[in-house]
Amino acid sequence: MAVTRKLLCIVAHPDDECYAFGGALALAHAEGVETCVVCLTDGQAATHRGASTSGADLGAIRRKEFADSCKVLGVTYHELLDYQDAQLEFADFSLAASRIVARIRAFQPQVVLTFGSDGAANSHPDHTMVSAFTTAAFHWAGNPKRYPGAGPVFKPTRLFHQTTDFFLPDRPNPSPIPWTVTLDIRSVFEKKIEAFRQHVSQAPLMERTKPIFEAHGSHERYTLMATPELGEARQLTHFFEGLE
Ligand SMILES: [Zn+2]
Repeated sequence: MAVTRKLLCIVAHPDDECYAFGGALALAHAEGVETCVVCLTDGQAATHRGASTSGADLGAIRRKEFADSCKVLGVTYHELLDYQDAQLEFADFSLAASRIVARIRAFQPQVVLTFGSDGAANSHPDHTMVSAFTTAAFHWAGNPKRYPGAGPVFKPTRLFHQTTDFFLPDRPNPSPIPWTVTLDIRSVFEKKIEAFRQHVSQAPLMERTKPIFEAHGSHERYTLMATPELGEARQLTHFFEGLE
């Protein structure tokens, strides 16, 4: 029997799953890959606050928007944790990593996706932190000495960081890692935009970034960061290439 292909994606905020990883997730769904998205915060510190009356209210609204977006992208499982938006750099590192280790061991993905250490196009410190937590968790999930209480060990095969081939015009440029994966997302581009539209509270952001999506929306870029496969870096067109 063929092994079920699984992809785990760890993000920081509701809307990361669509604007950054939406093409990857929708393509995975179209190709029969099981997907799981774990989001660490409910986005209470957002600049755009929609019709919310308080931080908690915005958090509740964005939890629902995240769920709706995951549904559009065909995400198999989604989960939103209880970390404070814009505070991840102060979170307990080991505890955060252990929570991601527990998700890796429970879901058993071959492929793990997260942000690059640059913090993505907007250099958000939460993105840098989710990258660090997930990178540690990727390496620790297969080690029986790490978090023995977090489930039976499981070693995922490939860790990819999200990266970019363009900069935002109104932000300081980050220092992104050169890519090794060019994912053609044209077949699911409309799904990605539709997922973004579920984030009604963030509609002004979508309006502002529309020209960027139109100019650069045909591909998403990622970098293979870790794998037990030995060899020099090579360019891939999808995450599972050569694993079948
Ligand atoms: Zn974000």
